[in-house]
Amino acid sequence: MQTPVHLVWLRHDLRVYDNQALYTACSAAAHDKGIVLALFIATPQSWNAHQMAPLRQDLLRRRVQAMQTELAALNIPLLAVEGSDYASCEPLIAALLPLGVKALYAQVEYELREQRRDQQVSILLAQQGVAAHWFDRLCIMPPGSIRTQQGEIYKVFTPFKRNWLQRLASDGIQCYPKPALQPEHSLLLPALPPMQAPDQSSGHWPVSEAEILTRMRNFCQQRVSAYQQERDFPAIAGTSQLSPYLAIGGVSAQQCVARLQLEANEAMWQEKSGAAVWLSELIWRDFYKHILVAFPHLIKHRAFQAETDLIRWPNEQARFAAWCRGETGYPIVDAAMRQLNQTGWMHNRLRMITASFLVKDLHIDWRWGEQYFMSKLLDGDFAANNGGWQWAASTGTDAAPYFRIFNPVTQSERFDPNGDFIRQFVPELSAKTGKDLHWPHRLVTPKGYVKPIVDHNEARKQTLALFAAVKGKAAEAVDA
Ligand SMILES: Cc1cc2nc3c(=O)[nH]c(=O)nc-3n(C[C@H](O)[C@H](O)[C@H](O)COP(=O)(O)OP(=O)(O)OC[C@H]3O[C@@H](n4cnc5c(N)ncnc54)[C@H](O)[C@@H]3O)c2cc1C
Repeated sequence: MQTPVHLVWLRHDLRVYDNQALYTACSAAAHDKGIVLALFIATPQSWNAHQMAPLRQDLLRRRVQAMQTELAALNIPLLAVEGSDYASCEPLIAALLPLGVKALYAQVEYELREQRRDQQVSILLAQQGVAAHWFDRLCIMPPGSIRTQQGEIYKVFTPFKRNWLQRLASDGIQCYPKPALQPEHSLLLPALPPMQAPDQSSGHWPVSEAEILTRMRNFCQQRVSAYQQERDFPAIAGTSQLSPYLAIGGVSAQQCVARLQLEANEAMWQEKSGAAVWLSELIWRDFYKHILVAFPHLIKHRAFQAETDLIRWPNEQARFAAWCRGETGYPIVDAAMRQLNQTGWMHNRLRMITASFLVKDLHIDWRWGEQYFMSKLLDGDFAANNGGWQWAASTGTDAAPYFRIFNPVTQSERFDPNGDFIRQFVPELSAKTGKDLHWPHRLVTPKGYVKPIVDHNEARKQTLALFAAVKGKAAEAVDA
């Protein structure tokens, strides 16, 4: 009789620890003396269709390679295959079934095309009599599990968070251990196209699980207490910089909370402590994913506040191009965009400033910025990115009110007071200090630097008019 094979299809859960699909497959294999086989399918055509940044694709491939070594130490082969688009997954999985695959284990994904892909695979498995086990561990609390007393989905963060924290206090957090060493096996794998080697463009970011977990542990042990004071200053490494790993599942949000509890359990429950504020950010991550699952029209790039889709954004190409290049004449915006272009990462405060600037100063549809961010970000995540953009554009759930318009100069003075961050990315202004650095155009624009492409006060008035023109037109918008 063929030895049963338990197939773990890894996607955005690229970790050995706290991997429910992997752990469950190993437990099942221990029960029926089966073999665990892990699978990863690279789908660059679908990734590109989602505007997934080349850096993020590279990080995925590098992490898969590292995981091959980590799983090999447990006698679990990880077959990394090069597919094309999501449609290629079904025949690739079909090619593995004759090995004696008894069951498939995978973590769910929430976006529409991913769900369609998984439905196709589920049909194939059902036809072949192979069991499918799907696990929902992308969020700490599964989507739909945090509801109002009337059973509705929260559209506002603060009550969502309150309820979420009550759930944490009552249920606690569960993480799955590293699976046990598997018996040696002699599984002969079919010849499928091997995953292409990464280009190492993300090489600056370590990818071994040990290094990722050390980064997370060090942050919780040493830096989280100062998070509240430091998190808004881009010149300081005051945040965890775990987002690229959370996005590909190199670490889980559950592991972050479990570690936080271990290192700062008391502080975590004290509202303004660094630990509590950091936990809040992880809750925002859950919040946006819950919203996405409950309101799938967001995946189709519709605004949450329907009437705002009626705004006629002027969408001037030249302005957009200047924003993308980091040549707007507003130093904090330019430094931030150059940070994104050069490193694939951008500090949260700067994401808010640049997003607000694109929409409310340059009058460009937030969807242009959302896509641009996605095409560059190492941590690109649909729910967080869409949520962040709709928040900044005042079109989303619990968004900034439309009349709240960031002033890029005062934001710069407050959050980069010494100009260290600006000087790092805008060398044209390296000789400037004090207020001149935040607004270098007082007398004459310094040589080599660009003149401001818009006047903030004028732009502000136009923004208010654009919103005023559509406010109260929700009914029309819904019909549109
Ligand atoms: C316009 C805009 C676009 C954004 N796009 C993304 C994106 O594509 N991917 C992404 O992970 N985050 C996005 N964010 C949220 C946030 O900016 C990043 O998560 C954060 O800067 C990552 O740095 P960190 O890991 O040091 O965060 P920390 O401050 O250490 O926070 C810990 C973790 O909490 C989560 N988190 C923090 N803030 C938020 C938030 N506002 N919304 C949702 N989750 C959050 C992230 O997973 C983060 O790694 C966006 C924010 C804005 C305003």
